[in-house]
Order: sequence, then structure tokens, then C-alpha cells
Amino acid sequence: MNALTATNRNFRYAARILGLDSKLERSLLIPFREIKVECSIPKDDGSLATFVGFRIQHDNARGPMKGGIRYHPEVDPDEVNALAQLMTWKTAVAAIPYGGAKGGIGCNPRELSMSELERLTRVFTQKIHDLIGIHRDVPAPDMGTNSQTMAWILDEYSKFHGHSPAVVTGKPIDLGGSLGREAATGLGVFFATEALLAEHGKSISNMKFAIQGFGNVGSWAAKFFHEHGGKVVAVSDITGAIKNPNGIDVPALLKYKKSNKSLNDFQGGNAMDLNDLLVHECDVLVPCALDMTTTDIFIYCLNILVLERENAADVKAKFIIEAANHPTDPEADEILSKKGVVILPDIYANSGGVTVSYFEWVQSNVYNNISLYAFMHVPQNIQGFMWEEEKVNHELKRYMMSAFKDIKTMCQTHNCNLRMGAFTLGVNRVAQATLLRGWE
Ligand code: GLU
Repeated sequence: MNALTATNRNFRYAARILGLDSKLERSLLIPFREIKVECSIPKDDGSLATFVGFRIQHDNARGPMKGGIRYHPEVDPDEVNALAQLMTWKTAVAAIPYGGAKGGIGCNPRELSMSELERLTRVFTQKIHDLIGIHRDVPAPDMGTNSQTMAWILDEYSKFHGHSPAVVTGKPIDLGGSLGREAATGLGVFFATEALLAEHGKSISNMKFAIQGFGNVGSWAAKFFHEHGGKVVAVSDITGAIKNPNGIDVPALLKYKKSNKSLNDFQGGNAMDLNDLLVHECDVLVPCALDMTTTDIFIYCLNILVLERENAADVKAKFIIEAANHPTDPEADEILSKKGVVILPDIYANSGGVTVSYFEWVQSNVYNNISLYAFMHVPQNIQGFMWEEEKVNHELKRYMMSAFKDIKTMCQTHNCNLRMGAFTLGVNRVAQATLLRGWE
């Protein structure tokens, strides 16, 4: 099932549970604005290359629209639309004052040089600069993009609107990025898992984890699970998969991957088939996307939808933590639910990234890097002072715990599973904001 059909189905189901008025339901489903632009750049060899860029702004009832920009060969409008909609419910579940958006350019970042990527990012920004903005729509990294991409958008946007660090998040620390943003999605996944396991009378310690995707999200999540006594028994990325029933030495694997850019031939485990990871013997399965906030821009993952009808029945895990966006097809969802597998949905499980994006948006560390004179002439992020990393992580935990409690309340009120608990929570918050603002 295509991502948009699946997302719409979940939304409609939540709207029915909430008893939403059908006209309001229709208005919440249709995106606020869909932008499609042609992006032509000269390649390094002088030839012309043309790409198509999208920014889909789904909803702004609760605040400026927010969401990543992905560079991927398979970017298509339906998928971007689905992901934009998921951002609307995600920011509402996290209770941060944003709406939802998503963007993307259909390109293979592995086949473009740094200067070609820079030109492409600048052309895309030139085409959309009037439609994004600090209080309008704030992009961030996603698959195939990173803090450098955000720095180029910031620079290009600032040529039109004056220096505007808060127009993007996930930017480099030296340009007003937040401490803790790089680890945020993985740390959020860790807090979310901790909350779910505690609910079931379990803890991270001694649980067996299988992690699909070892980029920015997966590697941080693995590190936190390992540090808290969890056994990471299998890990995969596009370069390969490894297993070790006694638990992989995660710090050693991180070091290995950093120098070899691959998981292959790591001595602390045995190689396994990539496709077997999802059905590997474990307690907790964690499908992770690679959002590469600051890591290698040339590594990306093609697997977006990973749990499908074909493999769901063979999943051994008792818990699935959706660190990736939309990793479970609705048919797989049903099969897994019938098997009693507990799924922590993406719009909650991976909300740590956008939550720390919000912290980045309200703070700024530019004070540390430029003179007071320059500071007086440079518009800052919203609040204008930088938080310690400890404060960022502490606040992230507070937001994640509070959202989990709110989801559980919805599950009890509507007698539904966690996915519908999260959807009803998010959709209801957006519906209330829409009604309060009125139609005029
Ligand atoms: N790309 C991330 C996501 O899908 C982060 C978005 C953001 O920080 O705006 O949630």
C-alpha cells in the first residue's frame, strides 16, 4: 500500500474514533499548500542537470509548519505528502507549537559532488524562499541531508530576508544549532522505549535489541541501549548486517563503522543476511531511518517501508519501536497486532528529533561565536540564549514522558492500540486548534 493511502487510512480511522465532523476531517486531510519546483544546475563537467523539488505544507493550525527535507532518488509527491501529514500529527503529539510539512528533491546524493549538492540546495531555496520562514515553515534534515544542507539553506534564504538562523533547524552548532540535536532522535527513541517497557514491567537492561539502520538514529539509539545494559544482538545498514547473541560491543562497532564506512568484516559478530534482521530473534525490534543530521551525507537507506504482509508473520520481537517514519504497512500492522506484538508508532517514537528542533528554534548560541557589535545587528533564533546539553536532554525526556502519558490516556479513553492512541491525540489537538481559530 502506498504511504499516502496508508497514512490517510490511519487518519480516517482516528477521525472516526474521535467523531470528527466530516467537513473538518476533509479540511484536515487536504494539505495547506503543495509546492513543486524545477531545479536545474550546471554539473561539475558543465552539463545541465534538472531535478524536481517538493515542499508539501500540510497544516499550520498549531504553529509554523515543520519538517525535514530529504534527498533521495525515489522522492515522490505522494510520499512527501504522507510524511508532511505525519509531521502534523507528530508535532501535535509532542505538544510543540508547530504544524507539519515535508520536502524533498528526487536526486541521488551519492552521485552528486559537494559543489553540485550545494548548487542544488541553493536553487531549491531560491525557488521556495518566499514560502518558508521562521514563523511560516521551518525545514530540517531528513534522509540524504544534514547540517551542511541546512547551512546552505540558511545562507541562501538570508540573502533574501537578512540573517535568519531560525529558518532551519538541525544546523551546525557554529551557526546557531543546538547541542544535543544530533543525538536527539536516538535519545528520544531510547526514552520512548524505556517508557513502553516500564509500562510492561520491564527495563532496557538485559532486553535483546535488533536495530535496522545504523546511521544517525540507529547508532545513537544502539549506544543508549548498550549503555543502559541492553543487549544489541543484531544491527544492519545498507552495507551489511551482523549478529551476536551475546550482545554486540556497540562502542567498538561505532568506531569500526567510522573508520571503515561499513559494517562488513566487523570481528565482534557474524555476518547475516540483510533481510533476516527484521525476523531475527530479539525482544525489541527497532527499524531506524537514517536522517544523518551531521554524519556522512553519502550514506542513505533505501528501505522506507520495511514491515510488510510478506515478513510480518515471521517477526519474533515482542515490541517494535518505529524509529523510522512509516516503517509498517497497515497490513503488517494488523498481522503484528494479532500476534500480540506491541508497536510504538513513529509519530511518537521518533519525535525526539523535531522536539529538539523546537529547542533549537527557541535558543541560539550565536553569542559565543560573534562579537557583541555583530550580535546587535544579527537577528537570532527566537529566544537568543543557548541551553546546556544537559538541559536539552532533560527537557527532551520531560516531553517524551508527557507525550507517552497522553497517548496512554487516549488508548484508555478510546480502547485502542498505541498507534490509534497517538493518532487520536495528534488529530484531536490539531482539530481543536482549527476549530478555535475558526473558518473566516
Ligand atoms: N526529519 C525529522 C523527522 O522526520 C526531523 C524534522 C524536524 O526536525 O523538523 O521528524
